[in-house]
Amino acid sequence: MYRFAPSPTGDMHIGNLRVALFNYICAKQSNEKFIIRMEDGDSEQNIDGKDQEILEILHLFSIHFDDVSYQSDNLKFHRQLGSKLLMDAHAFSCFCTPELLEEKNEQYDGTCKKLSNEAVLNNENPFTIRMKAPNTSITFHDLIQGEQAFEPQSIDDFVILKVDKTPTYNFACAIDDMLHNIGTIIRSEDYLADTPKQELIRQNLGFDQKITYIHLPTILNNFGKKIETEDESADVKWLLEEGFLPDTIINYLICTSTQTPTEIFTLQEAIEWFDIQKVSKEPAIFDLEKLRALNSTHIKMLDPMELSKYIGYSSR
Ligand code: GLU
Repeated sequence: MYRFAPSPTGDMHIGNLRVALFNYICAKQSNEKFIIRMEDGDSEQNIDGKDQEILEILHLFSIHFDDVSYQSDNLKFHRQLGSKLLMDAHAFSCFCTPELLEEKNEQYDGTCKKLSNEAVLNNENPFTIRMKAPNTSITFHDLIQGEQAFEPQSIDDFVILKVDKTPTYNFACAIDDMLHNIGTIIRSEDYLADTPKQELIRQNLGFDQKITYIHLPTILNNFGKKIETEDESADVKWLLEEGFLPDTIINYLICTSTQTPTEIFTLQEAIEWFDIQKVSKEPAIFDLEKLRALNSTHIKMLDPMELSKYIGYSSR
């Protein structure tokens, strides 16, 4: 099972679209299911209607999915499994206030890990739940980035349930991927450092099914700067409003990530030959001028009926 896990907290940008696209292609190639999981856990950050907008964009790009779920619906499982980790002593209650942590420079020093059970039970102050840092290194293989090894000291006693007992990103993500039986995770390289934490959570819950990881390299603009969520030209809605065809954007995102047998192709053709293992480790370059040139080629290739649909005259 494959998944695309967008946060309904902002506009979809080309980096998100590429993640969805590659998941879709790989799921199609291996005849596996592909689900959308809305990571709506941070209710203050969610923007009304963004979930529907994301689904509409996927539809427009012919990125079909089998199911949609909402992370917030899994809250009871996050809490139950958080309690299990606490009972099994893989996690502990932490009473440090944000002010105290700020004094410690956000560096958690393990104070509450040493508290006796009695001290914990008698403390009525608000608390978070933290995972105990691992004793051994955590390793996993990434199909693009290669073998990964994280030393125990590179992972802290990180928070899994906040004061209000809602999960942090790492915890919710680790649990949901386990519950949804996700076998392959394709996501942006930005999450590579989160992976050992998610692996640790699942290991401590006794889940030993191997997950295949694929962390996609960054996308840079043509000045060599990382494309940020705020960049208008990387906003999928903006690109569509500018007249770029979904076919052009798909063609371009694949071309900038891997060698392709032809310069111009459709999504259906790419499904025939795309090989995720051959995606380059180097950052992809997103150049709007090149995208424009490619768009004119795709517009010329449009079948007249399709063109009339774009112009808005077709009733079919
Ligand atoms: N919600 C994250 C995002 O919007 C996805 C993280 C993941 O795929 O694990 O990029």
